[in-house]
Amino acid sequence: MKYLTYEINSEMSYGVLVDENNILPLKPIIQEFGLNNAPDLLSFIRQYNIQTVNDILEALPRYAEQMIPLNSVKLLSPIPYPRRNIFCVGKNYAEHAAEIANIGASNSSIPKEPIYFSKVADPAIGDGSLISIRSEFASLLDYEAELVIVIGKDGKDIAEEEADNYIFGYAIGNDISARDIQNKKLQWFKGKSLDNAAVIGPWIVSKDEFTLPLELNISSKVNGEIRQQSNTKNLIFNIAHIISDLSQGLTLRAGDLIMTGTPAGVGIAMDPLGVLKSGDVVECKIAGIGTLINEVKFI
Ligand code: MG
Repeated sequence: MKYLTYEINSEMSYGVLVDENNILPLKPIIQEFGLNNAPDLLSFIRQYNIQTVNDILEALPRYAEQMIPLNSVKLLSPIPYPRRNIFCVGKNYAEHAAEIANIGASNSSIPKEPIYFSKVADPAIGDGSLISIRSEFASLLDYEAELVIVIGKDGKDIAEEEADNYIFGYAIGNDISARDIQNKKLQWFKGKSLDNAAVIGPWIVSKDEFTLPLELNISSKVNGEIRQQSNTKNLIFNIAHIISDLSQGLTLRAGDLIMTGTPAGVGIAMDPLGVLKSGDVVECKIAGIGTLINEVKFI
């Protein structure tokens, strides 16, 4: 099931995609699913249990008259305001680790341990929104297509075999990165956290549509030209390992977002440079999830 957050008549709402063209809003009907107060998708995820998904599926035909057309809404990021920063994994595809080592941006190639950093999302922006970046920070602006894990249940010290039970679903991320800032500072945090640099969408696909380990084609294009092309089976540290490792002594919360790393093909490693310009359109795609398309605008 695809869960989405959207704006209609200047109000934020959320629902499920019933078919290619129609949304069923969930807010008016959540009481039937045992959820009393879920004003947004994050609240819904924090209360749902796996039975809820099946209940919603069963109830869909009865609410058919409440459906609204997908093209009548503006999509927002599924969780525009996460409870805390997005967890991110760096250098998690071998070919990407190698390409940035080649340009001297990193002193080692393949990490032996997951590299974690975080990214501000206040808000995260969704499919179709402008990646508006102030031009003084945009001289080396880059895209990073990534698989995003949405945590479905609080947990810590999670065993790899149990990791699947803590996942709500998956989305597509574009970890927009200001390389000039990233290179200047010892930590990546600032260069990853400019306003409008967290792009996540177009919706969350519930985890029941996938089995671990995930083997999903992932790609990005800039103005129609393919830049990144890989498969999530090439993650150095896979989904189960990341959830298990990150949760040792650190409680993961329902609704937390984890960006799992980007494949080779980022603009900073291209010759000539393939960094983003104002007006560029970036398209990130993951099989089974969808496509996330955003135009870049320097302001
Ligand atoms: Mg990244």
